[in-house]
Amino acid sequence: MDNQLDTAPCGYFSISDSGVILSVNQTFLNMIGQEREELMGKHIESTMSVTNKVFFHTYFYPYIQLYGYVDEMYFSFRNNERQDVPVLLNGVRQKRDGQHVIDCVAVIMRKRIEHEKDILNTKTKLEELYQATQEANMELERLHEEYKIKEQALMKVNEQLEMMASTDLLTGLKNRRFFQESMADNLSLYHREQREFSLLVLDIDHFKRINDTYGHPIGDLVLGNLAGLLQSISRESDVVARYGGEEFVIILVNCGEQQAIDTAERYRAQVASADWGEYQVTVSIGVSTVSATDTEQTMFQKADDALYASKTSGRNRVTHASQLIQR
Ligand code: GH3
Ligand code: MG
Ligand code: MG
Repeated sequence: MDNQLDTAPCGYFSISDSGVILSVNQTFLNMIGQEREELMGKHIESTMSVTNKVFFHTYFYPYIQLYGYVDEMYFSFRNNERQDVPVLLNGVRQKRDGQHVIDCVAVIMRKRIEHEKDILNTKTKLEELYQATQEANMELERLHEEYKIKEQALMKVNEQLEMMASTDLLTGLKNRRFFQESMADNLSLYHREQREFSLLVLDIDHFKRINDTYGHPIGDLVLGNLAGLLQSISRESDVVARYGGEEFVIILVNCGEQQAIDTAERYRAQVASADWGEYQVTVSIGVSTVSATDTEQTMFQKADDALYASKTSGRNRVTHASQLIQR
């Protein structure tokens, strides 16, 4: 065998149709750790494990007999230390000197197999990471949903708290705090946009008598019923609140003096003519309408003075603060 083939960077051997080794290069001998003299004339299967012998028989021989070649077959020889030597095997069956021979080259595949193992490992790890990411995302989504539900519940509780903080417990009307905030809002609207508004202060006449005659619980009931009646008469935009005790306040938005007097009169008349059972309920009302110099306090004071005038002049009547000044 010439030197070039003997030391070529691939294993080379040639076998007869029946598998007897006819020639072998040094590179192949080095691969499997054998001496040339040991191998020449032996059967190629002497370089294989039992499993690989079976594979060689069932695949390599029939294929090369049928097609005349075998390309890129993954295969393993066995070295003198009985270890597998993985190779990529190419073979071709051809006629030389009047007889059929099978020429084969074998390239060691160890590095490539290591490489493939690495790739496979990396792929598995990537899949595991992907799975973990998916699970983390799902958990995140679940937590986000939970957060949204809790946030909504919190908003609802806050709304309820706000509602409770601005509601009078006995009557369900707005309370004094809410009324004072609305007065401030309406005053700044008036200063900014000249939006006129009026205030009614409304007090039940001789309410003490109702309590004294029928008892405090009935008094409470009357307060509740009156609150309902006032609310039913009022416009959506008006603020009806319990100021304290048996005193109510109503803010009439977009409402000037005469309209406020008429509205107050309507409230007074409807209370007086309502069916209260065996007792009589009437209210006295004081009215004030906003002017340029007014504050919340002056507006309330004027309405309260007008209310006092309604009381002293016989009750169950309406007085506007402007009528006091004229007097
Ligand atoms: P006037 O016509 O001068 O307003 O007479 P009045 O009796 O209504 O006025 P007064 O201020 O003398 O009495 C108010 C009464 O309102 C006394 C108080 O017991 C009663 N009152 C105040 N708050 C409540 C309440 O929440 N429930 C009940 N049942 N009574 C209340
Ligand atoms: Mg009173
Ligand atoms: Mg009263």
